[in-house]
Formats: sequence, C-alpha cells, structure tokens
Amino acid sequence: MDERKRVYLFGDSEAEGRSDMKNLLGGKGANLAEMNLVGVPVPPGFTITTEVCTEYNTIGKEKAVELMRAEVENGIKHVEKIMSSKFGDKENPLLVSVRSGARVSMPGMMDTVLNLGLNDDAVEGIAKKSGNERFAWDSYRRFVQMYGDVVLGMKPESKEDIDPFEAIMEEQKEKRGIELDTDFTVEDLKELVAKFKAAVTKQTGKNFPNNPWDQLWGAVMAVFDSWNTDRAIYYRTMNKIPGEWGTAVNVQAMVYGNMGTNSGTGVAFTRDAGTGEDIFNGEYLIDAQGEDVVAGVRTPQQITLEGSKRWAVLANVSEEERAEKYPSLEELMPKVYKELDIIQQKLEDHYNDMQDLEFTIQDGKLWLLQTRNGKRTGAAMVRMAIEMLEQGRIDEKEAVMRVEPNKLDELLHPVFDKDAMKEAKVLTKGLPASPGAATGQLVFFADECAKYKDAILARIETSPEDLEGMNIANGILTARGGMTSHAAVVARGMGKCCVSGAGELKIDYKARILTVGNETFNEGDWVSLNGSTGELYKGSIDTIDPELSGDFGKLMELADKYSRMYVRTNADTPHDSQVARDFGAKGIGLCRTEHMFFEGEKIVAMREMILAEDLEGREAALDRLLPIQQKDFEGIFEAMHDLPVTVRLLDPPLHEFVPHDEKGQQEMADVMGVTVDVIKQKVEDLSEFNPMLGHRGCRLGNTYPEITVMQTRAIIGAAIALKKRGINAHPEIMIPLTGTLAEMKMQEDIVRDTIAKVFEETGETIEHLVGTMIEIPRAALTADKIAESAEFFSFGTNDLTQMTFGYSRDDAGKFLPIYIEKGILKNDPFEVLDQEGVGQLVEMAVERGRQTRPDIKLGICGEHGGEPSSVEFCHRTGLDYVSCSPFRVPIARLAAAQATIR
Ligand code: ADP
Ligand code: MG
Ligand code: MG
Repeated sequence: MDERKRVYLFGDSEAEGRSDMKNLLGGKGANLAEMNLVGVPVPPGFTITTEVCTEYNTIGKEKAVELMRAEVENGIKHVEKIMSSKFGDKENPLLVSVRSGARVSMPGMMDTVLNLGLNDDAVEGIAKKSGNERFAWDSYRRFVQMYGDVVLGMKPESKEDIDPFEAIMEEQKEKRGIELDTDFTVEDLKELVAKFKAAVTKQTGKNFPNNPWDQLWGAVMAVFDSWNTDRAIYYRTMNKIPGEWGTAVNVQAMVYGNMGTNSGTGVAFTRDAGTGEDIFNGEYLIDAQGEDVVAGVRTPQQITLEGSKRWAVLANVSEEERAEKYPSLEELMPKVYKELDIIQQKLEDHYNDMQDLEFTIQDGKLWLLQTRNGKRTGAAMVRMAIEMLEQGRIDEKEAVMRVEPNKLDELLHPVFDKDAMKEAKVLTKGLPASPGAATGQLVFFADECAKYKDAILARIETSPEDLEGMNIANGILTARGGMTSHAAVVARGMGKCCVSGAGELKIDYKARILTVGNETFNEGDWVSLNGSTGELYKGSIDTIDPELSGDFGKLMELADKYSRMYVRTNADTPHDSQVARDFGAKGIGLCRTEHMFFEGEKIVAMREMILAEDLEGREAALDRLLPIQQKDFEGIFEAMHDLPVTVRLLDPPLHEFVPHDEKGQQEMADVMGVTVDVIKQKVEDLSEFNPMLGHRGCRLGNTYPEITVMQTRAIIGAAIALKKRGINAHPEIMIPLTGTLAEMKMQEDIVRDTIAKVFEETGETIEHLVGTMIEIPRAALTADKIAESAEFFSFGTNDLTQMTFGYSRDDAGKFLPIYIEKGILKNDPFEVLDQEGVGQLVEMAVERGRQTRPDIKLGICGEHGGEPSSVEFCHRTGLDYVSCSPFRVPIARLAAAQATIR
C-alpha cells in the first residue's frame, strides 16, 4: 500500500490544496481551496483526489474504500469541528453536499447531491435547532429526490414520462391547488418525503438508506461511476478529454439558501459572457437551493440594479412591477450585495480572468460555493482579452493567448437577426457542417443557382461538378453525407453555411420537391439554414453581417506582432482573394486553376481540348482558352497586387471535365463536328480505376506539355498586362504532384522556356518563382533532389495525408468515423495534421530541401493550414507561412502568434 495522500482539506481560510492543483483536485476542488486561501467565505469540506477515481476503476470499490476510509473519516471530523455539529447526530446533525469535479468542467458528469446526512431523526434535529420546521422538511424532500435520482438511479419509465419525483410533486400541487414549490406546507413536504421513499422501494426494490455513512459512500461511488456513463464518455470524445483523467469528489458542509426570505442562492459573472462587457451581472432567487436558479423553477431576479433594469426592458416588465415583484439583490439586500460585489472584484483580480461564481445566502450571511474562469462567446473572448490588456491586467502576449483561435470563426460569418429567429419554425436538424446563417430560395440543381439572387442549394449529396453553384448559393443543404462529405468540406473552404446529412429530408429531383415530415417545399420556396446548429427553418430569416469590432482589429495586430510565420490564403477568384486580403492574408498560397474551367464558355473550350483527336486540335482549343485564362489571372493578381500568388498548374484527372450526360455529349459532338459515339468513346477512354492515382498532376503536363505552355503564358501574360497598368504581380508557378526530380525538371524546363519566350516577345520581365507541391511521399523522401529544381515547396497535406495513410479522402467517410469512435485514430487526419506520421515526412522534406537550397521558401496549403494545432506544428517545423481558406485566415494568424509565444 502506498502512502499517497488521497484527501485534501479546506475550511476557515486554510487549505491543503491550491488553484494550480486542478489535475489532482479537479477544477472545483482546486478553486474551493484557493478561495479559502484568499479569504473568501467558503463552507468547509474536503476533496477526494482524481487519482482515487482511477484507483477505483482499476481495483474496484471495496479496496478503494479501504485505501481512503481513514482520510475521509478525518475529513468529516475536520468539517464537524469547524461547523460545531456532528455527522449522523440526532440533535445537531452536520449535513454535506457531495459534488463531482473533473479537471475541466464537464456537463454530463454526476449531478450534485445536497443535504446528505438527513434521515427521520436528523430532520427533527435540524427543525429544532433552526426553529424552522418547513426549512428542515424542504431540505429532506430535496435530499431524497436528489439522492434517488442521482445515486439510486430513479429514472422515468419511458422517454415520454417525466421524472417520477416530479410527477409526485405535480400531483401534490394539483391536489392542493398550488403552483410554486415555495407554497408547500410542512405537511405537504412530509407527505412528499414518504411518497418519494415509497417510490424508491417500489422501483429499486431497496429501502432508502437511513445511515448517513451509507449515504455518503453511496454518493462518493456514484460520482466515480458517473465518470464512465455514456453521456460523460460522449462529451469526452467530443472534446478530446482523456478517459484516464478521472473525477475528484468534493464533500462540503451545507449552507442553506432555503431558510426563508432572508436566504437565497444565485450565480454571477464578473463580466458579460455573451458580449464581454465589463459589467458585473447574474441572477438569484430568494428562499431557494442549489440549481433552482438554473433549472428555472421560478423567474430568477437580477443581482445588480442596472442588470435588473435592462432585464425589465427585454422582458417587457414595467419599472413599477420590476421594483415590486423582481427587485435586484442590490435593492433587496444592500449589505449582502456590497459584500458580493467586493468578492467578485477580488476573485477577478486574483485569477485575472472573468469568473463564473455560485453563491448562497444563509439567513443574511454570504457564502461562495464555486468560482471558475467563465465560458464565453467568441466575441466576448476577444473583447475581454483586449479590455483586460487595456486595463493593465494582462500583457500583450497574454491577451493573444487568451483567445481560442477556433472561436474566431463565430465572429466571421453572417448571423441571423436575434428577433427574427424567435418567429422562425425549425423543420429538421442535420449536421452543423459549416457555420453561419443563410436564407434563400430552394434550388435542386447547381447549374440553376444563378436563377435566384438568394439560393439555397438542396441536394441529396454534392459532387465536384456542383462547385460553381455551391459558390453562388447562399447556403448548402444535403440529405446525405457527414462532416467530411464533399458538401461539408467545400462549404467550409468557401466559408459558406452548410447543413449536411439531414436524414429526414426527402428530395425528389424529378418533381423538384423537398419533403420534411408532412411539409412539402417546391423550388423557389424560402428556407433558412443555421450552419452552426444544423437547423433548417421554414421561410426567410433576416441575417446581418457580423460586425468586426475594433477589438478584433487590435487582436489581429498583436497577433502579427508576435508571430514568426505569416499567413496566406487559398483562393481561386478575385472575390475570395479580396475577402482574404481584408482578413489580413499576405498572399495566395494556393490558387487552383481547374475551378476556372467550369464556368460558362470555358468548359466548352476545355472539353474540346481534352476530347481533341490530336495535338493540333488540342492546341487550337488551348489558343482559345489562353486569353480567358489570362483574364482570370489578371483579376486575381490585381486583387492581390504587391503580394505573392502561388498558381498551381492543372491538377485533376481530365475525366472530371468531360460531359457524362447524353445532352452534354451531343453538344460537344455538335461543336466538334463528330458523332456522339466518338465523344462517348473518348469519355470512356478517359475513365480510370483510381483517378486519384492516375493521369493527373504533373503527369498531365509532362504528357501534354502544351497545357503547361498555355497556363504559363496566361500567368506571365497576366502579370505583364498588369505591369503595364502599374500594378505589381508576383506569380509563383507551382507544379503539382511531383514524385521524382525528372518529373519536376521536365516541367520546370517547359515553364522557364515559355517564360523566356514571353519575355522576348513582350520585351518585359516579371519576377517569378518556379516550385512544387510536396504531396507524394516520394517527393518528401527525395526532397534534396527535387530542391535542385524547385525554388519553393508547398506542402499539399491533403494528398500527402491521403497517400501516407493510403486512405482515399472521398471514401474515408465509410470508416473514419468508426475509427475515431473506436479510438483507432484520435482525430480525422484530414482535419488535424497527423504529426507523428505525415508530420515526419514534412520535417524530412524541410530538412532535405534546405540542405540543397538554404533559402528555399516553405509553406503549407492543405486544409490543415487553418487548423490551430497543425499551424503550431508548421511553426515548430520552421515553415515560412501557412495558407488556408479566406475565412480561416484570422484563425491561422492567431494560431501562428500563439505558437511563437509558446
Ligand atoms: P455543478 O458542477 O453542476 O455546478 P455543483 O457541485 O456546483 O454542481 O452544485 C450544484 C448546485 O448546488 C450549485 O448551485 C451549488 O452552488 C450548490 N451547492 C453545492 N454544494 C453546496 C453546499 N455545500 N451548500 C449549498 N449549496 C451547495
Ligand atoms: Mg457548479
Ligand atoms: Mg493535391
């Protein structure tokens, strides 16, 4: 048996724990200890460590109890001494609460049991001692109910039923013709306790435990067990909390907010958790206990007068009624309020962060029961960080560290108008695939999105062909597919609202109708999507552009001041480029050229090029594509003037561009003056078993050099055209999918020859770079060789992940979710860069590339470039920049700064 300490005491301004012992004592326990140390009134108690929970899970109940018994008994003695009462005593009983508390606050864990230690004898003792029989029986009623629910597992019989105890209470209220719990008489309460106990015996087959020690051990074990309930495990998986952590148990002397009109309980925040405003706020209830405020048993009242007045306006309550029926604590108990106000300030000063507090007033005396750094919205997070910096509470680096990069996402997307939301009707729910709010008219085909100014594209699922329509639509809705479905990934990339996998939707493409339940919608009907919650609404809901506050700007400035890397964007259109630039992008890290070919007349010329019989036919089609492509680049280079733009040459398999439908094939036959059968045959010839590993990337440019020539001409031509207008373009030409030096070198030669020709023809020159994407493992392994030809590397970590794992990104949806659920993989490697495996290849390529070419420019352009933990990896690996979709630019800027500061 080892001698480790399993129980930590606190009380009377002393404590064995501290706030920095959260791993051992849990967040709640550590802060209860700390509050004692800073002189805040806290009921005495003790904390059983998280290590005991882990022990319990391995050695079982009996042995775990033996290991901690003496320390727990000593803990109870400690509390008895301070409270001058005795656990299990008839005359003067000590009652305690038993509270769970993990390292991080975790909804889904066990609910707290209050008033533990009560039985038929103790209730009389409490009644006599307090001179308040009603209070004694109210506490007893609450205890039997909570213990029954939480420890004895009293559950409703079916999901339609309500809690068995609630049902009994409702019955009693009806019988007596009352509405509120405060209207119960002593006799009512006695009756309720008896009925509750009978219900326990009936449902569990066991009598309610009378002995306080049995009650205590039962509750402690229930807290440990709650660590492994389904809902706790689900929450942990969702938030990546390790199962080994365990929970602590806090046992603490009760203080009573239910002693009458001079008592109460409440919750408070030292700043506004929604907006970040530096204003003390919160709610309380008179003659109430524990969760009554949160559970909404009665309308809670505001703590401050200012808050109360603001509330009355929103709730449509007159000043008269407010003052009479819902006075603030400030008005009702000015002395207690003053003390609370001093304590909240003291706690915020001490922790130097916004605090979320729980307090109870027992007969005019204030007690604090919990403090923690409060949860907050993205907007509040930014405002608090900047204001705390300006108030001199924290320094610049700390302000940068205070904001979770991913939370910025909330600030960047259009939002529904709050008032309009209230009227809206929810039709169904899918997955919150891409945040934001969108309203528009239903369209079922991507190529018809342009019919409406505001379109919502509804599809069973989407495919790459739908891209243009997706880009035009305000939002995307799919009946099938998960968080990594095509629709979801593309929408997130575009920063476009998307709800995916809404399984209740029935879409009939033929009839052009969508049905949900018994509601039917036609094309053109208005619906709204909330991509942050996955909800689909009937009708239109007004959206407003998010307002980017001055604080946001200040935060971004600080981020740039402290980060070593800079941030570029992945953008294929002038519009996206501009958006990204406004978000602070310092260039384009990936401009894909294939998307450009899908629009209007371009697709016809592109198809002609692909379907051409011979070189001559291809060149003729390319000649027509050249000016159109050059115009595209001019638009992008102009939007990105003075900043570098990495353009990737054609990458996808040609098969993706050709028509697969009869109508499209006929059209091409007409245009090219051949029979449909010829076209059909060509299309068939192009199809591949594994297109991702097939004829694509630089393999296209090396087999059809004329494509590379055309694209190079378009890029350099565009830069020269702009130069003549006094606009600076900095093109960087990127060869996709190289795996060997020879492959790269051949492309490089074509590109450089072409550039030399263009320079000669025009008499102009343009500064430029030629480099490659590193996305094939062989390229990473031979990076020293490839760097002989490439002036820059951009890590295409989407393909690199795909090829390193051997997972097809388009098919991974079938097994990845299961792999994550079973713990085979911790994260989706397409979302969070796999540092252990794929990361090694990146590190290797960086090292070998620099050996050959010390000044080689290094960046990443996979989706990982906007994911904070991956950005940190890129920083550590020594990349020069990360590139991500426009809406993730601020997130990446902040993550890059945090990586540098860490
Ligand atoms: P949660 O983690 O769900 O907030 P808590 O353990 O904080 O659960 O407790 C639930 C409620 O019971 C809170 O309102 C808390 O203030 C109250 N409470 C907990 N312990 C005591 C106590 N010893 N005396 C009075 N109220 C308590
Ligand atoms: Mg709490
Ligand atoms: Mg690729």
